Amino acid sequence: MILKHAIALSGGIASGKSTVASLLKLYGYRVICADTIAHSVLDANAEEVVEAFGEGILEQNCVSCDSIKFVINRKKLGAIVFADSKKREKLEQILHSKIKAEILKEAQKEERKGIPYFVDIPLFFEKNCYPIAHSLLIATTQELQIARLKARNGFNAAEAMQRINAQMPLEKKRAMASFVIENCGSLESLQQALEHYLQHHLPKL
Ligand code: ADP
Repeated sequence: MILKHAIALSGGIASGKSTVASLLKLYGYRVICADTIAHSVLDANAEEVVEAFGEGILEQNCVSCDSIKFVINRKKLGAIVFADSKKREKLEQILHSKIKAEILKEAQKEERKGIPYFVDIPLFFEKNCYPIAHSLLIATTQELQIARLKARNGFNAAEAMQRINAQMPLEKKRAMASFVIENCGSLESLQQALEHYLQHHLPKL
């Protein structure tokens, strides 16, 4: 099976993928978001994840005075798995095939429309398992990734490097992508670069 009308949107962490995804939605494109799907798959499989990582990843979510719910705190889980690649593999083992199946299900619905759509998959190049031929990479410098992670997530430099080092180097992704947008300037120049891509480089699918 090949997803003929799909374009994978990827990048490095904090390179600007979500910003581009928001712009694409404004322009009327359908964007399937792997992160959103991953969050609901995590919630649906919370029991198995807590079994593997312990109750320390839970937090109380007081829905009302008489019903207290426990939910997975993604920050706590992230801190555990990004500090230990074996644990990250374990989490991926539990969730990845389910996330992929959900993405493919959504994508197949889009295929029927016969028009291009985007699939925002942060680990598209790392996983190398999606039947999508075209890709758009949002790239930037490591310095900007660190600065954006500090500003957006409140990470310190070591935490930011941990996240960056857990991914394939952007250099390698640059060589694999069908098209690269360099996001090293203002938001306005990112928008212009995206418009240029949509007008002149969108694959004829
Ligand atoms: P990703 O989805 O790749 O992790 P985001 O799109 O969330 O990255 O961008 C990371 C952070 O950097 C966000 O806070 C975003 O607003 C900011 N950002 C992205 N691109 C630019 C830019 N060109 N100029 C200024 N801030 C930017």
